[in-house]
Amino acid sequence: MHVDQVYPGDRASNCKGMMKPIAVTQSGKKGWILLHECQKCRKTIRNKMAEDDNMILAAEISRNPL
Ligand SMILES: [Zn+2]
Repeated sequence: MHVDQVYPGDRASNCKGMMKPIAVTQSGKKGWILLHECQKCRKTIRNKMAEDDNMILAAEISRNPL
């Protein structure tokens, strides 16, 4: 759900639209970044993936590049 306006965890957005994972990208030393798009306002938000996140899901998404 879209609740973060600028930074993950800031909870500054009142949108509350559904967030859909649309892409994964690798960002140097930061590792894997998962991109979510809000289905309501179309804002995209980046979330750093934890090592135990679902890499199978990530692989599925990465087959559909932006
Ligand atoms: Zn939104």
